[in-house]
Amino acid sequence: MPERDDLLAELGLLPTWRLRQRAGMTAATTAEPGAAGSRDAEVRDGPEARVIRIAALEWRDFAADVESCTACGLAAGRKKSVPGVGDTKAEWLFVGEAPGSEEDARGEPFVGQAGRLLDNMLAALGMKRGENVYIANVLKCRPPNNRTPEPREVDACRPYLDRQIALIRPRIIVALGKSAATTLLEVDATIASLRGRTHRYRGVPLVVTYHPAYLLRSLPDKAKAWEDLLFARRTLRSAMGDDDP
Ligand code: SF4
Repeated sequence: MPERDDLLAELGLLPTWRLRQRAGMTAATTAEPGAAGSRDAEVRDGPEARVIRIAALEWRDFAADVESCTACGLAAGRKKSVPGVGDTKAEWLFVGEAPGSEEDARGEPFVGQAGRLLDNMLAALGMKRGENVYIANVLKCRPPNNRTPEPREVDACRPYLDRQIALIRPRIIVALGKSAATTLLEVDATIASLRGRTHRYRGVPLVVTYHPAYLLRSLPDKAKAWEDLLFARRTLRSAMGDDDP
C-alpha cells in the first residue's frame, strides 16, 4: 500500500490534511415461488407488492432482481445495472447518487476518476473497497447524461437501497453528496447544512459529506471531506464504545 503522505499528496490534500491532523483532528422474498411469479403478482397487486417482495430479498437474488428491474424509465437506457459492491457484513456503508458511464459499462459503482478518489480517501483512513466497506448508489441504473435523478426514479429505486442497508446492517453510513443525503434523511437541505453532525437512518449513525465527483472539481472542499471522514470514524468508534482517538 502507498505511504499515507503519498496518498494525501495524490488527493492534493497536503499539507492541509496533515496540518489539520497535527492540530488535533484525529486525525427478494427469496423470489418465491420464482421471480417471474412474484412479478406477475406485482402486476396484479400493485407497487406495494413489489416493495414487500424487495424487502424480503436475500443477497443471492439481489443483483439479478436489480438487473431485471423495469420499475422506472432508466431501465431502458442502461447497459448494466449497478447494484453495489463490497463486504456484505461491512461496518462502513458509502452511498452515492447514481452510476455514471463507466459504472454503467462495468456494473460496479465508483469506478473511474471519482472512484479512484474515493478509493484513495478510504486508503488514507486505512480502509479498502471490499474490506469492511460496502459501496452503493441511491439509483442502480444510470440517468442519461448523468442528469440529476428525478424524484419518481428515487422513489422507485429506494426499496433496493433500504433492503441493502437492512441486509448489511452497517455501523456507520456515509452519504456522499446531496442526493444520497436527502434521500436517506428525507429532508431537503444543502450539504453544508448537513455536514458535521450525526444523523440517523433507522437508528444507524449517518454522516454527510461531498460526492467524490464534486471534489474532483473543488479542491478546497477536499479538506472538508477529510474532516467529515474523520468525524465519521470518531462517530463509529463512539457508537462501538471505543472512544480512542
Ligand atoms: Fe429499477 Fe432502480 Fe434501475 Fe429504476 S433505477 S429500473 S427502479 S433498478
